[in-house]
Order: sequence, then C-alpha cells, then structure tokens
Amino acid sequence: MEEKFNVVDSFGVDVFNEETMKQRLPKNVFKALKKTMTEGKELDSSIADVVASAMKDWAIEKGATHYTHWFQPMTGITAEKHDSFISPMGDGTVIMEFSGKELIKGEPDASSFPSGGIRATFEARGYTAWDPTSYAFVKGGSLYVPTAFYSYSGEALDKKTPLLRSMDVVSDAALRILKLFGNETTKRVVATVGAEQEYFLVNKETYDLRKDLIFTGRTLFGAPAPKGQELEDHYFGTIKERVANYMKDLDEHLWRLGITSKTKHNEVAPSQHENAPIFAPANLATDQNQLTMELMKKIALDHGLVCLLHEKPFAGVNGSGKHDNWSLSTDDGQNLLDPGRSPMQNAQFLTFLTAIIKAVDEYSDLLRLSVASPGNDHRLGANEAPPAIISIFLGEELQAVVDALVEGKEYTSEGRQMFHVGVTSLPEFPKDSTDRNRTSPFAFTGNKFEFRMVGSNLNIAGPNTILNTIVANSLTEFAEELEGASDFNAALHDLLVRTIKEHKRVIFNGNGYSDEWTREAESRGLPNYKSTVDVLPTLTTEKNIALFRKFGVYSEIELHARQEILLENYSKTINIEALTAADMAKTEILPAVMKFAKDVCDIAASKKALGIDPTVETALAGKVNSLTVALSDKANALSDAIVKAQGIDDILAQARCYHDEVFANMQSLRAVADELETIVGEEYWPYPTYDELLFNV
Ligand code: ADP
Ligand code: MG
Repeated sequence: MEEKFNVVDSFGVDVFNEETMKQRLPKNVFKALKKTMTEGKELDSSIADVVASAMKDWAIEKGATHYTHWFQPMTGITAEKHDSFISPMGDGTVIMEFSGKELIKGEPDASSFPSGGIRATFEARGYTAWDPTSYAFVKGGSLYVPTAFYSYSGEALDKKTPLLRSMDVVSDAALRILKLFGNETTKRVVATVGAEQEYFLVNKETYDLRKDLIFTGRTLFGAPAPKGQELEDHYFGTIKERVANYMKDLDEHLWRLGITSKTKHNEVAPSQHENAPIFAPANLATDQNQLTMELMKKIALDHGLVCLLHEKPFAGVNGSGKHDNWSLSTDDGQNLLDPGRSPMQNAQFLTFLTAIIKAVDEYSDLLRLSVASPGNDHRLGANEAPPAIISIFLGEELQAVVDALVEGKEYTSEGRQMFHVGVTSLPEFPKDSTDRNRTSPFAFTGNKFEFRMVGSNLNIAGPNTILNTIVANSLTEFAEELEGASDFNAALHDLLVRTIKEHKRVIFNGNGYSDEWTREAESRGLPNYKSTVDVLPTLTTEKNIALFRKFGVYSEIELHARQEILLENYSKTINIEALTAADMAKTEILPAVMKFAKDVCDIAASKKALGIDPTVETALAGKVNSLTVALSDKANALSDAIVKAQGIDDILAQARCYHDEVFANMQSLRAVADELETIVGEEYWPYPTYDELLFNV
C-alpha cells in the first residue's frame, strides 16, 4: 500500500537546516555558525571540522555516500562533481571522512567552464567556497554543499558570487537609510525573492519525434493548431489527473528539500503551468529555483512527460516567464516595501520607493540586459508579456500619492482610511494598493516589486544582482545627501520631490502592450532594446563599469568576461537552432513533401488517363511544387548564412550576423514549411504537429 506523504514531518528532511544544526552541533559551534550565517563572517577552521563531521554523519544516515560542491557556473545551469566520503585505512578497509577543509573549499577543474577569457589571463584553477547562508542538502545519494565558484585571482566564475556581493551592498546601503529614520537595531537588510516559475509539459513520446525540441528546447517549425489559447479556458482551469499527479510528486520532492512550494495552477497557454514558492533570501531563492527547475525536468520523465523550460517553445501561444518578486526586509522581519502603519514608516517607505524609481530609470539598460537571452527575445517586445521597454507600474493610489508629493498638494482618497503622516510635508495615503497590471515589466504589488521580464529558463541570480546593486546605488546617494542635512524632514522632502521629478518618465500605469506606449516611451526618451544583441554592449559602458566598480559587485574584468560569454552564448544558441532547422528542412520536410507531391501527381496522371478531370490535383501539385522550390531555396540560404556567421571573428559582429541574417533566414524558412504543413496530408508530415504537442497530455 502506498504510504501517505506527511508534509509537516517530511518538510526539509533532506536539508541540513537550522533545526538539524541545533540538534547535531555543540552549542558553541552552532552559535558560531549562526553568526557566520547572519553576519556573513568567516568560519573558523576548527568549527568547520565539527560542522563537516556532523553533516557527514547526518548525510550518511540519509543514505549519502558522496559529497559535492554544488555551484552555478556561467552556463546558467548548476554543476556538481561527486567525491565519496571513503578514506582508506591502509589495511584494506575504509572509513567515511569529511573534513572542514573539504566542506569549506573545493578545487574543481575549472578549465571546461566558460570564463570569458579570465582563465587565459590568469590561472586555470578554480575554487568553490561554501556559502553557509544556503543550507546543504542530500539528493540522489550525495551531500550537496552550495558554493560560490571563483578563480585563483578571485574573479567570480559563477552567478552566485556577484549575487552574494550585491546582497551585502544593498544591505549596507539600506542600513544607512534606516539609521536616518532612527533605526539602531537592525543589523542586516535582506533582499527577498519569490520566483514564480512557468513551464510546459509535453508527452515524452511526442517530444522524442522532434529534433527541434530535443536539440533546442523549442519548436522551430509548426503551424498553429486550430485551437490555441483564444478561449481562455486553460488559465486556472481544472488540472488534469496526470498533470496533478506530476505536480504532487514534484511538491513532495521540493518539500523534502525544504523548498516552500506553495502555489500551482494552469497557465494561459494549453499545456502550460506554474509553480510558485514562498519567498526567501535572494541567494536561497536562487538555489531553490535552480533545484526546482532541475526537479521539474527530472520528475516529468518519471511520468512519461517532458518539462519544457524554454521561454518560447511554441509560436502563437504565450511563452513562459518567471516573475521575480523582490523586496527588502530587515533581519527582524520588517518589509521595507510595506507602506506600514506609522507616519515614520510611511516616510521611510516613500524613501525606498523613490530610490527604486531612480534606480530603475538610471539603469534600465542593466535590468533589460539582466534578462536578455536568445530564448527570451521571443517574449520581450514580441506581442506578448511584457514589452522590452522598462517602465514601473505604481497603481492608481500610489501614483496619486507620488503626484501629490511632487505637486505639493494634500492627498485624499474617498472612502479609504487615511494615515496621519507626521513628517509634515509628506502626504497621506491609504494602505492597500490592490491594483493589478499584467502588462508592466516592473510592477509594485502592494509590498514588493514584481519583475516580469525574467525568462522561464534563466538563473535568477543575474537580475537580482542588478536589482540589489542599482538600488544600493540610489540608497547610497540618498544617504550621502541626508546624512549631512541639518533639518532631516525638509531635506528628505526636497530629495524625494526632486528625485521623482527627475525620474517620473519611467513610471507608466497604462497598457504596456499597446503601440501608443511604444511611441510614448520613445518620446519620453526611454530605451527600447529589442534584442539580446542590441542590449549586450551596454554592459561595459563607462557608466555601468563605474557602478559595479564602486560597489565591488563586478570588476571590469568580470564584466568583459560576462559580456563575452553572453555574446558567444547567443551565437552558439542560434547556430544550433539554425543547423537543426536546415537539417529538418532538408532531410525531413523536403522528402515528405516530395512524396506527397508524387502521390498527388500520380493521381492526376491516372485520372487524366481515364479521361477524368484532374484540376484539383494539378492545382495542388502546382502549389506544393512552388512551395517546395521556396523551401529548398530558403534552406540553402540559411545554410549559407550559417557559414557566413561562423566565419566572423569579432564576437559582437558575429552575434549581430546571427541575429540579422541567420535568425531572419530561419524565420522565412519556417514560414514556408508551416504553410506546407497546412496543405500536405497529415500522414505524410514527418513529425508531430502543434495539435498533438499541445492538447495530448
Ligand atoms: P500574486 O503575485 O499571484 O498575487 P503573491 O502576492 O502571493 O501572488 O506572491 C507571488 C510571489 O511573491 C510568491 O512567490 C511570494 O512568496 C512572493 N512574495 C511575497 N512577498 C514577498 C516579499 N516581501 N519579497 C519577495 N517576494 C515576495
Ligand atoms: Mg504574480
């Protein structure tokens, strides 16, 4: 009989979390470790030995035989190399060992991970260092130690190190502001993140018949199914039993790993779903989201399904994103983006809000860049959520507050309870802003911001590193101005009004999908980077290098390295897609179409021989023939474009060529193939169509 899963008993059982630490570590060791975790202090090596030994014993009880330093190289996925705990005794026997040194530092061979030239300039070696603020866990017979990955000379080779740096930076800056509001008790401000993860499920059998899905994660061909998402009958609809079983299985795995999987539902497109956890500190949320994506894919296979995390697996229906909910919280649990109840809290809230508005306007290029990927290019600015233009949604009420502040007027809202703001010059405003705007890329949702541009497949470390850093920058500038002020209230008022006036162009509460907005945004001078290739050069502008250097989040070397990796990744991705498309066109679609054409011609000839009118067959054969010629021409043109792009040395010029020529050729090849799909007999078509992919789970 199947045992019932007990959520409370099972939650976090595979995690070396605080509760387990408390149980298994001597009091003084636990205290020292806790200090390391909350204050980011370095761990003493004698303490590390005790922690490692306790971790090992616990892991072995859970069935582990190996340990691994788990890290997030710049490939965007996670990496792991497993070492067993065994240590030979010299008499043919072994014992299980794990030292503090092994826990704290690892030395994986870094040479096969992308470094963007850092390795060439420095040393081949790379190190991993335990991030004690993210818990170790047991999975598949190994103890996983979450780590940061860096080079011999200290350059970050991963996505985690800059994120951790940015969390420190935004904490320091926020503390300065809190102090100005009289807060002397908060020791750390934590960037909190909740990532809502969208995904598609398709049948494994169907998936296996499509080279494009296998090699690129998305369909490179495919005419629309007769039904798409137009009836809006999938969003929040009843979850099919098979999918429900999958979700249940996934939840149980996530809960065992201490991931607070909270919400699950069907999404807008057929076969599209969402999973959302309860928010956590940004680094933990990042680890957990990486694990969630990994488990989503793995568990799908157990159910005869494949989980697609690509941003745009299917043309013509919604793609998948990952709403990155972001806020700042004090170590004693105060959400700094919660308007709060007291006048002082209101003023403090407006200060943080204004800092964010300024940050987003000044560094919208970096925010846009932080979500740029070849997959996400299909979503952003391409007729669906959200546009590529960065703007902020505040909602009606908060907008009115901001307007009143700028205009120096009293703020009233009918029928709502008012706050009484004690800081004289700040207006009153009601607490809850429940307004929703699904078209905004960066929306205030009551007590947090929701960054909606993030792609489903992306590691969220990148966007959150940018958010933390740019907000730290505004907060630091505010602190510098306010710390010297003789009249705090007057200085604050002046600062907020001036800053909002300067940056209000980035606020937009209307429909972000409309053409009017594109025009309006242009007249406001807001940038519109349409593709990854357009925005990547901005990573190393003087302004952006200066920002990261000021806060020590990325060195100039690290920025150039990342830019290089992102450009190369763009070219490689389009190259794989283009090769797959050309191959499918030439070796699958063309032969199928020719066979169909032959059969049609045969029928026409037989009819003609019998004196029967062959008009329909002749017309069809003619149409198929002209499309076949076009298909062949376009497949050849695509192959030529690939050769041309491959021959370009300069990485930016190469990426541009992949975008302007290779990708463009792929699109026009697809248009012809998709038209053929609608006229060629179903049994001839060489792979499953959209109907079968989207409606058969
Ligand atoms: P919705 O956006 O659908 O209204 P919720 O408001 O419940 O849903 O939250 C969506 C996500 O935002 C969840 O992952 C939730 O944990 C997260 N979230 C809520 N509060 C915060 C916060 N203060 N910081 C970061 N994420 C948050
Ligand atoms: Mg949401």
